[in-house]
Amino acid sequence: MPTFADVEAAARGLAGVAHRTPVVTSRTLDDTVGASVFLKCENLQRGGAFKFRGAYTALSRLSPGQRAAGVLAYSSGNHAQAVALAARELGTAATIVMPLDAPASKVAATRGYGAEVVTYDRYRVDREELAAGLAAERGLALIPPYDHPDVLAGQGTATMELIEEVGPLDALFVCLGGGGLLSGAILAARALSPGVRILGVEPEAGDDGLRSWRAGEIVHIDVPRTIADGAQTQHLGRYPFAIIREGVDEILTVPDAALVDGMRFMASRCKLIVEPTGCLALAGVLARRDELTGKRVGVIVSGGNVDLDRFAALVTGGVS
Ligand SMILES: *Cc1c(COP(=O)(O)O)cnc(C)c1O
Repeated sequence: MPTFADVEAAARGLAGVAHRTPVVTSRTLDDTVGASVFLKCENLQRGGAFKFRGAYTALSRLSPGQRAAGVLAYSSGNHAQAVALAARELGTAATIVMPLDAPASKVAATRGYGAEVVTYDRYRVDREELAAGLAAERGLALIPPYDHPDVLAGQGTATMELIEEVGPLDALFVCLGGGGLLSGAILAARALSPGVRILGVEPEAGDDGLRSWRAGEIVHIDVPRTIADGAQTQHLGRYPFAIIREGVDEILTVPDAALVDGMRFMASRCKLIVEPTGCLALAGVLARRDELTGKRVGVIVSGGNVDLDRFAALVTGGVS
């Protein structure tokens, strides 16, 4: 099981490679919540999301032989771009398995980082089988998006930087998909700000994390219908769950409409473009503001990869 020492080691490896993203504050937000709120802006990270931290950490730990052979990831989202970018940084070949109907901009960005994109029909082909087959056939190392000790240790560096910069927190809000970001945050926050209350935030339609935490075992669900595409996971990872089940204080859910409000707020007040999933944690803060009066509150803004047309449609039209 990874520990805070692994997060510290990941931070040393990422120095000078990942951006030390800014922490943004807003007077309006502080007044609205009645607290001091610190937004850690991973939407400004390389590749547009925190995922670069974990992907680079995992790739940098591969043996020279594995690095020479290359890596493989399956993702239609930010992990694909992160692995492609990390592979380019480390001089490794990346193969990314993406569905045929993945957004053209994401396929283009992944190819733009130099990765080979292999597409498949998501209604007819099981991607895990396809990926495992390709990896075995070509001798590639499979890099999972969250269920991996190096990946979650890398993600923990975002929280480590936040607390190093602003000091101890009373509460920390982190979005929750497969649990890599939240479990890494728990390792960092428990070490650097022991009294902090840590809250995971999920989309209402995808509450598998909450159900798993209550049940004490990983609960699987159907693909949730939500605009938070980065949190459309069907279950938590085993490594993340082992850390989350002991280390999180609460898991809450928020409706998609609250994510659109968050996108609008961060664009108009903070001049930040944030994707729907990136607004989960802020939406959690606003949902719990009555409990946060006078507190110091950290928020991980996880990513900013959203097509401008979709962004515009969401902030002008809302959730359809
Ligand atoms: C991947 C991702 C998440 C969810 O992270 P997990 O580690 O799977 O919980 C949240 N937000 C964004 C922007 C992401 O790319």
